[in-house]
Amino acid sequence: MSKRGGKMRCTWFNETFDQRREAVRELEDDLRAGLAKDEFEIAYQPLVHAANGSIVAVEALLRWNRSDGHKIGPNVFIPVAEESGVINPIGVWVLRKAVCDALRWGGITLSVNISAAQLRNPEFPIKLGEILEETGFPPHQLELEVTETCLVLDPVVAERTLDVIRGFGVRISLDDFGTGYASIGFLRQFRFEKLKLDRTLVVQAGEDDGSRAMMLSSIAVARALNMDVTAEGVETNEQADMVRLAGADQIQGWLYYKAMPAEEIDILLKKQTADSDAAAVTSHKGQ
Ligand code: C2E
Ligand code: MG
Ligand code: MG
Ligand code: MG
Repeated sequence: MSKRGGKMRCTWFNETFDQRREAVRELEDDLRAGLAKDEFEIAYQPLVHAANGSIVAVEALLRWNRSDGHKIGPNVFIPVAEESGVINPIGVWVLRKAVCDALRWGGITLSVNISAAQLRNPEFPIKLGEILEETGFPPHQLELEVTETCLVLDPVVAERTLDVIRGFGVRISLDDFGTGYASIGFLRQFRFEKLKLDRTLVVQAGEDDGSRAMMLSSIAVARALNMDVTAEGVETNEQADMVRLAGADQIQGWLYYKAMPAEEIDILLKKQTADSDAAAVTSHKGQ
């Protein structure tokens, strides 16, 4: 490349680097302000029973509706919230709001995503305990989703925090399995109650034998360790059949449901209860 071209590239790089830093700082301020102005919202995505398609759980997924009308997805703002620590108050807000919503959903499980910064924060288990006590939410119906990055940075602290959380009766789920470096040994070390196979693994398992073997062996180990298995990001009937045959207990994906507002979950669950009541009456009559 010419000297001039090189210099231009360098200037361009510096400008965008500074601009990016500035943008991140602004986003941080906006996140704090957004929390104060109640701009966050939770969408819930149902997880269905692999065998019969009934809703057995919902995952809380954070949404940010900015006052300027823009909707921003968690993949954009969660990393900034994590870097700056704003994830701590946001995470507590999510937990409290989701638990309050889920109180009216009866026997289904609520999953909430937890990031590394929250797991490292000694205040987190205290807040969790308070929320459970204040709301009376059944702890065994709450599941916290962590990723391997939450745990590898400081496994000793993470293990200790997870033990406190488990002491409440809350379940721990390993999210996004198959995307990073999480090995099968990792599953043994941390004793999760649930394994969530990431969408990329599900997609690849449908396309190549190596990935399918990896999916099958992960499920086999999860089973042997008494873990529940959820397949994430299932979009096609072929994928659903594949993960069902492979032994997944639950399926989460657009083939069944996208994430939706709490009010729509109310309607779905009411319908599900009514349908199962009707089925019970029918089968009773048939006897
Ligand atoms: P995740 O926990 O792995 O959540 C699943 C993501 O996959 C969600 O994206 C969901 O909408 C998407 N998804 C579900 N089914 C399908 C499908 O069939 N096809 C495709 N293409 N996508 C599907 P979303 O809501 O954008 O969230 C992205 C990530 O942001 C989450 O991944 C999670 O890591 C993080 N996140 C969301 N809410 C929170 C939160 O309250 N706290 C923290 N710390 N992280 C959160
Ligand atoms: Mg998750
Ligand atoms: Mg996931
Ligand atoms: Mg993910």
